[in-house]
Amino acid sequence: MVRTSITPETTQIIAGTRRILLANPRGFCAGVRRAIDAVEQALELHGAPVYVRRAIVHNRDVVERLKQRGAVFVQEIDEMPPGAVAVLSAHGSARGVKLAAQNRGIRVLDAICPLVAKIHAEVEDWYRMGRHVLLIGHQGHPEIVGTLGQLPAGAVSVVSRPDDLAVIDIPRNIAVAYAVQTTFALRDAQEMIEAIRTRYDDVAAPRASDICYATTNRQRAIETIAGKADLVLVVGDATSSNACRLVEVAQGAG
Ligand code: SF4
Repeated sequence: MVRTSITPETTQIIAGTRRILLANPRGFCAGVRRAIDAVEQALELHGAPVYVRRAIVHNRDVVERLKQRGAVFVQEIDEMPPGAVAVLSAHGSARGVKLAAQNRGIRVLDAICPLVAKIHAEVEDWYRMGRHVLLIGHQGHPEIVGTLGQLPAGAVSVVSRPDDLAVIDIPRNIAVAYAVQTTFALRDAQEMIEAIRTRYDDVAAPRASDICYATTNRQRAIETIAGKADLVLVVGDATSSNACRLVEVAQGAG
């Protein structure tokens, strides 16, 4: 087996008659690693059980390993006993979740990814400035649910394609701002931002892109590979937004 690096985004392995291209970078992002570390550190510090609200990572092997060490995965705070130690996921959690934990005397370790925390702070600022927030993302995704949960109902509209702007029907003269789900596909976000700028007179934008570098550099890497491969395999979970975007990018590249 011969292993060589053919571009910064691609490693090549020659195995018999088969040529395998590996995307660079690949694997967990820093935000997810940080969340896994938070569960492991909580187990070391407080002992088992440590409760984890929702999936900390879309990877069954990691989840099983954490379960064996004493992590208990639940969907909601009311499934945790009062006084428990709980880790909240990298996707970020609605304010109501933290309040529910506080009311049950639960000690919370918030493993929110710093980039998601930046988006929460931004949407709060815009709301305070009197802007309606257009959140570009996939309705129902945990990160979107968490971001929506930072502001009162009606302050944010979730949009994922240009046609959605007609459906939400916010008048043109209303001051708006947009934020983007960290794992949204770069091209789709650009299309959405253009549509927002065309439709509204006063649009505020994030100071820096909301789309995560770990997401964009993996999308670029798979785009490079897709043009050179007969088959692209994305090793991931169907519930992972990142994995689904990689499949779409590979399909888009043929
Ligand atoms: S924002 Fe990026 S680094 Fe943070 S958890 Fe999501 S994909 Fe990972």
